[in-house]
Parts: sequence; structure tokens; C-alpha cells
Amino acid sequence: MKDLTAVERVARSELERLQLVRLRALVARAAERVPLYRERLRQAGVTSRDVRSLADLRRLPFTTKSDFRDAYPFGMLAVPLDEVVRIHASSGTTGKPTVVAYTRRDLATWSEVMARTLMAGGVGPRDVVHNAYGYGLFTGGLGFHYGAELVGAAVIPISGGFTERQLMVFQDLGSTVLCSTPSYALFLAEALEEAGVAAKDLKLRVGFFGAEPWTEGMRTALETRLNVMALNIYGLSEVIGPGVSVECPERRGMHVAEDHFLPEVLDPVTFEPVPAGATGELVLTGLTKEAIPLVRYRTRDLTTLDRSPCACGRTLARIGRITGRTDDMLIIRGVNVYPSQIEHALMQVPQVEPHYLLVVRREDALDSLEVRVEAAAAVAAAGGDAMRGLAAQLKRKIHEVIGLSADVSVLPPKSIERSAGKAKRVEDLRGKGGAAR
Ligand code: AMP
Ligand code: ZN
Repeated sequence: MKDLTAVERVARSELERLQLVRLRALVARAAERVPLYRERLRQAGVTSRDVRSLADLRRLPFTTKSDFRDAYPFGMLAVPLDEVVRIHASSGTTGKPTVVAYTRRDLATWSEVMARTLMAGGVGPRDVVHNAYGYGLFTGGLGFHYGAELVGAAVIPISGGFTERQLMVFQDLGSTVLCSTPSYALFLAEALEEAGVAAKDLKLRVGFFGAEPWTEGMRTALETRLNVMALNIYGLSEVIGPGVSVECPERRGMHVAEDHFLPEVLDPVTFEPVPAGATGELVLTGLTKEAIPLVRYRTRDLTTLDRSPCACGRTLARIGRITGRTDDMLIIRGVNVYPSQIEHALMQVPQVEPHYLLVVRREDALDSLEVRVEAAAAVAAAGGDAMRGLAAQLKRKIHEVIGLSADVSVLPPKSIERSAGKAKRVEDLRGKGGAAR
């Protein structure tokens, strides 16, 4: 098999040459085949011939999620349906889902970037990949599946749910690699503890966690409770699915598969690149996508971009942890709050479990934030005073981090609903009568 990872270590000048060739071809194809792009590029007065250096990327128009909605279901396609061999759709909390399509070559690209994702954690033919991402329209399950097959590992397409079977497979089939959302991994860790199975007696050694925001505190919890190295992975359906970026064992940001996806981090108001290391909106250009060419897609995800060399030897740029989405930001009494900031505050207090829900209400034009979080079993067993003490401590921490006072409800273990996929962290009841159950 050809060395899939060679491109991850080439000199930046060589990588950038490749990116430019691909970018020019992308613009030509998009203009030729997709009416939406043809019109936008015409308005911007740019043709593929104007793309002379990577800096010309900034002259290209943006694409947004609502473009996908308006083009529902197939208006973004650059190929006839005969050439499409797979269709996925992203969840979408409101209205129609976002439909994405793949040609055979797109699937090969996706398998390749997913194989590279797994290889970043040292996964190879000897591994047993326990793939608990959901199989179905969601890209997580099949994305990891094809990547695991390409590296020659034995993949178990277990998907999410059926906890007892998950535990049985860990033990009997000797899973070495866990792929799941971080919240589901935590749920599995709890289930193992309850069943009296010690993680060190399992063969798990590495976990690929993503598809939802999580924090360093959560990483520590997962690494100790599952006895794995926990790596952050990032991707989104519009761009391809998982496989856009992954941490190497240095764990100082996620390397972007830049030969396929060109990253920019921009100020979401001015659309100018942010200074090095500053947070902004991630914008991705899909350099090689056939079915749905993607020009400067605004992901709404907030992160940082780092092009400095990494100790692992990869020359690929790294993005930092996704700290929120521009559309996830809550404005509470005029203060901007991201759920990940609350998670960060909660995880600084050892006696809590990382299961939480933020409930936002508005009464008499005044916003209130309730943070529901589970106490560790020992605190719950110690009784009311211990629980109240913990609530007071958490209230102070949250105030320190977001500068806003929240009502903290410390609940007994298992009170907050678990999910086999992405966890629900926010219930915003403003404008909905205000009452939460
Ligand atoms: P979907 O297209 O349904 O797969 O969802 C993609 C979205 O999931 C991204 O735009 C992010 O908001 C979120 N996401 C994926 N991976 C991560 C990650 N590692 N950390 C935080 N959010 C993530
Ligand atoms: Zn690295």
C-alpha cells in the first residue's frame, strides 16, 4: 500500500504548490458546474485564472449552511446523480437536514483521510477498532469504518447503544481502539465501572473522540477512566465528515489534512484573518471534493490556527480545540457565554461528574442561567450539606470563568439524560414560556 502519510511531512512550499494547483482546478469546476458558484464568482469578478497564489483565496466568495438549505436536496451537486455513490445528511436541529453526496473518488479520499486520522494514533492491522459512532445518515460511523478497513484493522461496526453488548465486546473481542463522541465514551466508562470491570483489564489503548465540543478536563477524565490516550478529531458533513483534522500524540492542536482541506481562521465580523494564535471562525475550502465542490465554507466553529512546525514532524497546520460555534453562543444578560466555558469551570472541581445541562430562561425580561450538574457518588452519599457546599463552590467557579452568576443545581449521579451520539448541553427556553421540566 502506498504511504498515505508521506504528504503530511512534505516541505510547506511543496504542500502549498499542490494546494494552489488544486484550488485553481476547484474554482474552474465550481464555476463550470454549479450555478450558485458560477453566479457568486461572477459577482466577485473572479475566475480560476485570477487564482495565482494562495493569497487569492481571499477574493473568493463564502459558502454557508443556508446555501445548502436553499439548494436542498441536490442543488450543490457538480456531477450527475449517476456518479454519486453515497449520500449522507447532517442532523440539523431545525427544518430540513443538510444533504451531502460523494462520488467514488470522494469516498476514496474520505477513506484516505480517515486512515490517516487513525494512523495518527498508531492504529494498524493488529488493532480491533470498536466503532461506537452512529451508523446511518450521520457521517461518523461509516467515516471511521472505511478508514479502519483501509489501515487493515479489524473494525467492529457496533454503533451506539446496547450498553451491555458494548461491554461484552470490549471484554470478549479485545477492542484496542475506541471511536465515539466524548460524552458517549464517558457513559461507557461509567457502565464499565458499574459492571465492576477495571479499564486496565481491557485492551483499549487509544480513543478518537469528537463530533461535539469537549475540554481538557474531560480528556483527563476519559484517559484515567478508560486507560486510553484520548485524541481529539474534527470534521463536518459539508466538508466530508470526520477526517478533516486529528491530534497527533503531541496533542497540541489537530493537524488539518491540508492537501484536501484548506483552512482559514477569520474574524467573524470583518472576515479578515485573525492574528496568529487568536480565536476566529474556521473557514474550510474542499480542494478535492468532486460531488460537492466547497469554496470557503463558513463552519461557524471557533478555533485558532497554528502553522508552526510540530514536534511530531508533520508540516500540516493545526487548529486548536473548538471552543464553541458562533451560533452556540448564548447571550445571557448581555454576556457572551459558550457552553464549553461552563464545562471548563465545572471540570476544575473534582467532586462533579462531567454530565451537565444549561437551562436558560427569561422572566420579566431578565435572563437566568441554571447549570445542572451531577455530583460524584461520594458527595451524593454524604448528603444535603455536602451537595449544597458543592453547589456554592461551583457557583463561585462559574462566576470566576464567565463573570455571571448562575443557579447551580447539583443532582445525584445519573440524573442527566445520556446520549449515544452528540450530547445535548443547552436548553434555551427564552421565548418558549420559560418553564423547564
Ligand atoms: P456534523 O456535520 O453533523 O457531523 O457536525 C459537525 C459539527 O460538529 C462541527 O461543525 C462542529 O460544530 C462539531 N464538532 C465536530 N467535531 C468536533 C470537535 N472535535 N470538537 C468540537 N466540536 C466538534
Ligand atoms: Zn503533530
